[in-house]
Amino acid sequence: MNEHISKGSFTEFPLNKYLKNELGMKKGYDEKFFGKEVFHWISDGGAREDAGGRSVNHFHNPLTNRGLFGNYSAMIWATLPAGAQRLQNYSWNDVRDYYLQALTATEKSKRDNWFALTFRGVGQIMHLVQDMSVPAHVRADIHPPPFWNDGYEEWAK
Ligand SMILES: [Zn+2]
Repeated sequence: MNEHISKGSFTEFPLNKYLKNELGMKKGYDEKFFGKEVFHWISDGGAREDAGGRSVNHFHNPLTNRGLFGNYSAMIWATLPAGAQRLQNYSWNDVRDYYLQALTATEKSKRDNWFALTFRGVGQIMHLVQDMSVPAHVRADIHPPPFWNDGYEEWAK
């Protein structure tokens, strides 16, 4: 579901224009880093945010500001200090650091690596924002398919 929502988001958000005009990327979101377009780095990031047990941190009850079963609230998870997430680091603060590194790196290969991490991270953060708009994620209803599928994601597709 996240990949589809992410693709749809770019038709309204002027990412393409921003990349061309502000960052000098002639191909906009079709610019490639390590053979993969910006657009795909972002959509892959959206998909990868659920990998490796990270999804236990994708819940946020707005009445208690708590997450699922003692895990991080999605809002806290998304805004942890750089380097503080378990497994891989893609909080807002990590991604801002990756972006700064991309803008200041003097070697092309390093700059490309930081841009790839930045765009993947943007997708991972977008995933968290999307999850916080899903009823099951704000009611702490776990819903791993196919056993406890509440049908919401199928409906949204
Ligand atoms: Zn999720």
